[in-house]
Amino acid sequence: MLPVKQTLNKAEVKRLDKVSAPDNSSDVTKHLPDDIPVALRDTPSVAPTTVDRSMLRAGLITLGAIAIAAGVLVAVQFQRSQQTQSDNTAIPEGIVSRIAANSAQSPASASPTPAPTASVNTDAMLGHFRYAEASQGVLGSIAADGSIKLRKAAAKAYQEMQSAAQQEGVSLVPLSGFRTLTEQDYLFFGKKAERGQVAAERAKVSAPPGYSEHHTGYALDIGDGAVPATNLSPDFENTPAFKWLKANAPFHSFELSFPKNNKQGVSYEPWHWRFVGDRASLETFYKARGKK
Ligand SMILES: [Zn+2]
Repeated sequence: MLPVKQTLNKAEVKRLDKVSAPDNSSDVTKHLPDDIPVALRDTPSVAPTTVDRSMLRAGLITLGAIAIAAGVLVAVQFQRSQQTQSDNTAIPEGIVSRIAANSAQSPASASPTPAPTASVNTDAMLGHFRYAEASQGVLGSIAADGSIKLRKAAAKAYQEMQSAAQQEGVSLVPLSGFRTLTEQDYLFFGKKAERGQVAAERAKVSAPPGYSEHHTGYALDIGDGAVPATNLSPDFENTPAFKWLKANAPFHSFELSFPKNNKQGVSYEPWHWRFVGDRASLETFYKARGKK
């Protein structure tokens, strides 16, 4: 405040002191910093010189309180509408069992159009989170024969990572990338039936349809071309490919989804990696987890 006072003549300073001295407004106002120099403050056009500063400040505080209250209201409404939206886009539990019984017709893939950023529901089932299925249009191939796909950004990053590994004599081989609900349906229910597993047991090694990171187009399973016997096996962690990935994957924006003793309770999957190199992928895997 000193520089301001220096530019004012003595009479003005006295007047200001007079005005501000009997400031008996609440304690709150006293602690508010005077960021705007008195001489520069906007004063109402109506009789600016007669406005009491404490009244002005009280008015500003009231306005501030109203703004905060309005903000809270808007936030609550927004959250409610988000809740309703995610409820609407969620895959009804019934559909999960229906595709089990009738996977050939794939009713689920005809249902909700996935949001462009692969919206994530906060619901978890048997340790897996629910993910929207990426549409074919956003996918790019990472295998020479076009059989394995990831979202374009993830595909580009994966190919760069694979080349970098190759330059160091390490052979990364993509085993599985994007999967449809129907494909995941077979992996969960088909294999479960073949092996006589109960749902909870199956969920430790495979996500139920609708709940696989593979639906997002950001996740893939990687093998070591030199040691194919370790494909999709915990032994993969002893391969040069895994050791290389552990040291280098973060530089290419890939991370292990299910490390040892993960909070989700999913079995350790050293071969399963996910891309987290852009906002959409980060939101897909992390935004909804805050509520967990
Ligand atoms: Zn996987």
